Amino acid sequence: MSARDESDDTDCDPTISCSACEACCCRLEVILMGDDDVPVELTVEDRWGGWVMRRLDDGWCAALDRKTMKCTIYERRPGVCLEYPTGGSDCIIERSRHLTRDLTSGDA
Ligand code: SF4
Ligand code: SF4
Repeated sequence: MSARDESDDTDCDPTISCSACEACCCRLEVILMGDDDVPVELTVEDRWGGWVMRRLDDGWCAALDRKTMKCTIYERRPGVCLEYPTGGSDCIIERSRHLTRDLTSGDA
């Protein structure tokens, strides 16, 4: 298991697994809801006065372990992360974007 949760959504591609992914979706903005309970030092206020997960200069969420590419607050990750469908269309798009970024930067 990587950063997000595996999904049993039937619209999702079952061949995609977080364990074989560089946490591509953990570069997205994660908007926090009222019942989320994440360490405050990992959050930041956005320009509209809402709260989001803080991201570091490399673009990934501050809660991501850069060595394992796993979520360090997995048990208390925000609802947005909990419900993100592995293998769903958004996941596939983010994985594709990440691959394109790597190819463009020569990191692949
Ligand atoms: S982009 Fe998809 S496969 Fe990768 S960590 Fe996120 S949900 Fe999992
Ligand atoms: S809280 Fe965890 S699952 Fe959510 S974006 Fe950050 S590292 Fe990824």
